[in-house]
Amino acid sequence: MSEKGKLIVVSGPSGAGKSTVVFKAVEKRNDVCFSISVTTRKPRPNEVDGKEYFFVDLDRFREMVENDELLEHAEYVANSYGTPRAYVEEKLQSGMNVLLDIEVQGARQVHEKMPDAVMIFIAPPSMDELRTRLEGRGTETERAIEARLIRARQEYKEADFYDYLIINDDADKAAEELNAIITSSHCKFADREDVLKNV
Ligand code: ADP
Ligand code: 5GP
Repeated sequence: MSEKGKLIVVSGPSGAGKSTVVFKAVEKRNDVCFSISVTTRKPRPNEVDGKEYFFVDLDRFREMVENDELLEHAEYVANSYGTPRAYVEEKLQSGMNVLLDIEVQGARQVHEKMPDAVMIFIAPPSMDELRTRLEGRGTETERAIEARLIRARQEYKEADFYDYLIINDDADKAAEELNAIITSSHCKFADREDVLKNV
């Protein structure tokens, strides 16, 4: 039985621990790959072009939008982000699950275009803990942290279309839950019922 891959969308406020949980969840499985987004945000000191993101200027970003090269795109705290379409389509076709780490507006676009996508929201246990994690990560200025906390509250209000909510209190437990969701997404009756017909 050759199955198409699933599109797995993970969202949640910046600092919730998405990267941490996703990394823990998929390090031992070979059926999940990550889509690398394009962004107009400047690289953080530890970030490498083509690894965390493809870093582009606004002109190139707009050109990609005009050429319909992006599956979805959105603005987040004064920068633009988008998912290159070709990579996602190619990997899904080859049977790989593709994981997108994107914010809520982009996730809504994906949900509307691809109703089969598995929509997962990852939240920290509290807003105080979110601030602590953002401060602890040390990658944003105090002003950028404030902007991200404001955006987090907005995202909670807009997040009513997700299928699953993971509270990232303990990262190992959150990773286990994420893995369980990915695995169970392949057990859908409708995706497998051909087996029952071939008896
Ligand atoms: P995101 O990808 O959602 O922006 P990160 O994975 O970068 O978030 O995590 C933000 C910070 O919180 C990092 O310093 C990370 O080590 C820390 N962190 C992640 N998960 C937890 C957790 N369950 N408990 C405590 N700290 C965590
Ligand atoms: P950061 O600047 O912290 O790397 O990311 C900020 C936010 O942008 C996060 O919520 C992240 O999930 C989101 N993001 C990253 N790539 C994309 C993308 O391709 N599209 C959308 N819509 N959001 C993205």
